[in-house]
Amino acid sequence: MEQIIKKLKEDARNSWSGELGEQRAEELEKYLRNKLQEYSNALKMPQKEILEAWEKDRTYSAINYYQEANQPSFKADKVIVFETVDELYQAIGDKKFRCASCGGISTNPYECNSGEEISKGKICDWKVYGLFGDLGKGVYVYIKDKLRGETIFTPISWEKVNA
Ligand SMILES: [Zn+2]
Repeated sequence: MEQIIKKLKEDARNSWSGELGEQRAEELEKYLRNKLQEYSNALKMPQKEILEAWEKDRTYSAINYYQEANQPSFKADKVIVFETVDELYQAIGDKKFRCASCGGISTNPYECNSGEEISKGKICDWKVYGLFGDLGKGVYVYIKDKLRGETIFTPISWEKVNA
């Protein structure tokens, strides 16, 4: 694991010259160590396994990948852990999700297909993986046996009932 962190720091350092590169490397290490500790505690898995899974998932620069949006905090009450994908499907039940943008009901957890008109002639096609993400309204589900997590629209069945 130390090898991987060392390599990532090196990449961060090389992404910017001089002092700023060094600063980026230090910040990346701090971020990684905090997140790994938190994830390891919450998932009861070794830090090494978690870091290796992230590295396998990462397709772009470490500086951009290792960000709060991609490794959200468990404390934020936004992360829900499941053992398997089946367990996740069971917990969702009906495939209905609340679009973060239009508030309509989408049957796709990533892209709105609610059919809601958001402005004249424009139907909502919000994408939860797009630039503005879930607007703070989605949930992050983590599947333990896949070692990965992702943000989806909040399933209707998980919405808190306002009595
Ligand atoms: Zn929508």
